[in-house]
Amino acid sequence: MVKIDVNLKRAVLDMMMGGDKLSYCFQCGICNDVCPVSQRWGSRYNPRDLVLFSALGFKEALVSAVVKDPFILWGCTTCETCDEKCPAEIPITDIISLLKNVSVSLGVAPEFYPSSTRAVMESGMAIPVQPAVEKRRVGLGIGPAPLIPAEEIRKLMLATGVDKLVKKQEETA
Ligand code: SF4
Ligand code: SF4
Repeated sequence: MVKIDVNLKRAVLDMMMGGDKLSYCFQCGICNDVCPVSQRWGSRYNPRDLVLFSALGFKEALVSAVVKDPFILWGCTTCETCDEKCPAEIPITDIISLLKNVSVSLGVAPEFYPSSTRAVMESGMAIPVQPAVEKRRVGLGIGPAPLIPAEEIRKLMLATGVDKLVKKQEETA
């Protein structure tokens, strides 16, 4: 039997921006239709399902599915295309980010999570800009990539305690 966790829905409802709109989802599927990740990977990634699982409080089912295939949650690139098109104005990207946080707090994160997070803490970027990219930017007339306030980002991340989560994840890997 599917276990229901009312706290998952409550956490989404308590989100700062528009979480209270979660119940307005009528499962039209537009978010899935416009999602570039879903277009590339088909049924392997579906933001509509993530919104539905949140609304129903299916935390355990979601976590089990993420353990089997982290991509069903972590495939989201936070491009926000779905947010722009959702007729119910549901903050889908924020909901997915919250689900990622839930997943990390339960120790269910993909293998790349600790190293990517450490890279962001150290340089402000998950993937440093390569010289070839810089050269291409200059060739396109858009100049070098803007400087990242790495120290500010690091301070913010330390204030959230993400370094402790990363350490925990590295120890259990
Ligand atoms: S587009 Fe909005 S209303 Fe439609 S399924 Fe996605 S979240 Fe629900
Ligand atoms: S934010 Fe995530 S779910 Fe929404 S369209 Fe982009 S990749 Fe898809």
